[in-house]
Amino acid sequence: MGKKGPEIVTQDLHKGYKGEALSVLQEHGIRVWSDAEIRTDVTVFRGIILPRAENTDDKHLVLKLNNGYNIGITVSDITEMKEIGFKKAHYKIPEKEFPFDPSKPNVRLLGTGGTIASRLDYRTGAVIPAFSPGELYGSVPELADIANIATEKLFAVFSENMGSEQYITLAKKAAKYIDEGVDGIVIGHGTDTMHHTAGILSFMLQNLPVPVVIVGSQRSSDRPSSDAALNLLNATYAAGHGDIAEVVVSMFGPTSDLYGLLHRGTRVRKMHSSYRSTFRTLGDIPLGMVNWREGITHLRKDYNRRDPSRKVKLDAVFDDRVSIVYYYPTMKPDIIDSLVDNGYRGIVIAGTGLGHVNKPLYPAIKRAVDSGVNVFMTVQTLWGYVQMYVYDTGRDLMALGVVPLENMLPEVAFVKLGWVLGHTNNREKVIEMMLTPINSDITEREPYNGYLIFQGGVPEVQKFLKEFWR
Ligand code: ASP
Repeated sequence: MGKKGPEIVTQDLHKGYKGEALSVLQEHGIRVWSDAEIRTDVTVFRGIILPRAENTDDKHLVLKLNNGYNIGITVSDITEMKEIGFKKAHYKIPEKEFPFDPSKPNVRLLGTGGTIASRLDYRTGAVIPAFSPGELYGSVPELADIANIATEKLFAVFSENMGSEQYITLAKKAAKYIDEGVDGIVIGHGTDTMHHTAGILSFMLQNLPVPVVIVGSQRSSDRPSSDAALNLLNATYAAGHGDIAEVVVSMFGPTSDLYGLLHRGTRVRKMHSSYRSTFRTLGDIPLGMVNWREGITHLRKDYNRRDPSRKVKLDAVFDDRVSIVYYYPTMKPDIIDSLVDNGYRGIVIAGTGLGHVNKPLYPAIKRAVDSGVNVFMTVQTLWGYVQMYVYDTGRDLMALGVVPLENMLPEVAFVKLGWVLGHTNNREKVIEMMLTPINSDITEREPYNGYLIFQGGVPEVQKFLKEFWR
């Protein structure tokens, strides 16, 4: 039964387990990498006991089920447990040299981190990046059918750790490779703040000659339902062969793997915490659908077309003394006061409805504006325009100096304000730059088919209704 795996060294026997969880393992004579059967009052689990990371709790065992999913089992629920076998796994991605084909476009893949660049290292329980061209080719060989890929790992962070320094480095690197003549850039990125990065790059990289495509995955590549490979293939296609020379996000479109959607960088937002089809274009319709085997179906005609003779305009500045204040009823003025007192220079309010906050905030907002802080209004509804002439509240706020930002998304307004304040602190100039549309961050109208409809395919909705909704 392979009870004594020869590679096992003593300290690895219960790697990462402590307290209650360690006692249960020791009591039952079970080690990490055991193929174990675990009984609880309600069910029986069978799978491999995985090592745990050092800083995790002592109340759970982690088991890799045969279907590839990892689950945590609460130690106190376990009634019986036995070792059936032993399977030490080595999850090294085989490296193969990425082939070069002169007839294919050259794409540069810049890595920032996130799930797409991750796989679980089962030895340590940590998530580590797999990134070299060889590793990419080893894990997604179809990439070589699309383009020649060279990679550069800029950072290895989960996307909540992206910030001004990373935005600036990323924009400069992309501009450098574009100037050197690549046919497209792909940026691997965590999905959580992908829309912030898509927004800021839309301001930092203007007049693009080639596509800059941001991609990620909701589920890491060691999971059976991972979207990593498909998203990467679609994004590489859009970067190497696509005609849309803009900053776009390329991610899973519908709930199936039929196609990816190409979203404009200033109009995209992560909208679901776990679905693979999490990115949606807001206030507009997506630019297109992409399927790397079939090509791109354009949904709009008004985009910046690929033109290698164009010169990218790099404008990489960012002042991070900006904040988004997501208004909630009962909010007290001290929230605004503390930002002013701490030296913030810009505040984007995500207001209720058409752009409102409560009356007790008025004096604090006035104080902010009088002390030179730039205060702008966006809407929490995400769809629709700020309309501050409709109710008294809106008029009052404008009289205090709050400037409405039309249909700019709150996170886009936030990164744009950081970018604008990197140029100037002059109030008139700040307002003028904020209100001058760049890459559709403000649009004249929302299309009738934008809101919730053209976002994953009408036919699918109809099919769903016909088949499942009787
Ligand atoms: N937490 C991860 C990140 O944003 C999630 C992901 O990559 O999908 O970096």
